[in-house]
Amino acid sequence: MSILYIVATPIGNLQDFSPRAVEVLKSVDYIACEDTRTSGTLLQHFGIDKPKFSFHQHNEHRKVGHLTNILDANQDVALISDAGMPGISDPGFLAVRAAKQGGHNIIVIPGPDAATTALVASGLPSDRYVFEGFLPHKKGRQKRLRELAEEERTIVIYESPNRLLKLLDELEERFEPDRLAAVARELTKKFEEVIRGTITELKKEFEERDSIKGEIVVIISGKGYSE
Ligand code: SAM
Repeated sequence: MSILYIVATPIGNLQDFSPRAVEVLKSVDYIACEDTRTSGTLLQHFGIDKPKFSFHQHNEHRKVGHLTNILDANQDVALISDAGMPGISDPGFLAVRAAKQGGHNIIVIPGPDAATTALVASGLPSDRYVFEGFLPHKKGRQKRLRELAEEERTIVIYESPNRLLKLLDELEERFEPDRLAAVARELTKKFEEVIRGTITELKKEFEERDSIKGEIVVIISGKGYSE
């Protein structure tokens, strides 16, 4: 029986990479990477030199067989994504399911993820929350937003910088405009910021900027929350 390690990698700050993560990556036979070039930089920085293969959202259905073949041959594999926790809006689930079905061990090496980092930094209730990942771009988007408007737990959404204003516009329309929310940008990086306010205030803040760059998480308080 072999081991599939699911290893979290930094979401920006290389110092967030744990010694245990480095040790595990140095011990395995193969590293499955979302992008071998992106991960190559990280691995090189930590002196990790292991055979790699790509495992991303466009080939994971095909590559999962390759991964389990390696496990079946008594070799250990570590799966990493470009940033953060594999399986969280990144490939991971299919690999874990297949490895479990094949009778292999799964060990997760925990570490950074943008969702919980943003949630905690937002100062909005973190006792109960729902993780939505990326909302669908077209089909089903408005239905999802209508449902989320009724959600009483804090909501965590991943969004790209060029779609942030559109999302804030939709939230203002579908949710109460004075609902408290936060935008967390570039977490753990040099220009990290977490801006908190009503949906309308956040929209105004970002509309006034010349450009919106970097990686973004939007946190919205649940229906009925007030301070
Ligand atoms: N697996 C990752 C995790 O554990 O958070 C998420 C991968 S998903 C493809 C990438 C999205 O995560 C970005 O578009 C952004 O919404 C969020 N994200 C990743 N790094 C971030 C950071 N440093 N600051 C803010 N958001 C980040």
